[in-house]
Amino acid sequence: MKNIYIPKKSILNLFYKNNLSINCLKERCCWKCKCDLDFWDYISQSSENEFEYMIELWQNANIEFYCCECFNQKTSDLKKKKNNLLDLNLILTFISTV
Ligand SMILES: [Zn+2]
Repeated sequence: MKNIYIPKKSILNLFYKNNLSINCLKERCCWKCKCDLDFWDYISQSSENEFEYMIELWQNANIEFYCCECFNQKTSDLKKKKNNLLDLNLILTFISTV
């Protein structure tokens, strides 16, 4: 796994600024497979100017997250469905021209 530098101090400062504590970070698990999600892994995927927004998303009770594996699986399934729809569209186009 790639080692990514996470400026924890600037993130913790955002917590203080928003009257949050690191102890009130929401515990999260993948919506699909229920494996635990790690806040620091999550925040390391974003750039410094996105941290505040990413924390807001993480703390939002109305949003669920996928782990990387389930997200990639979902993306792959969506591509397959899109290709099936394109195939169906080609067949329908062919039938309508015959
Ligand atoms: Zn998952």
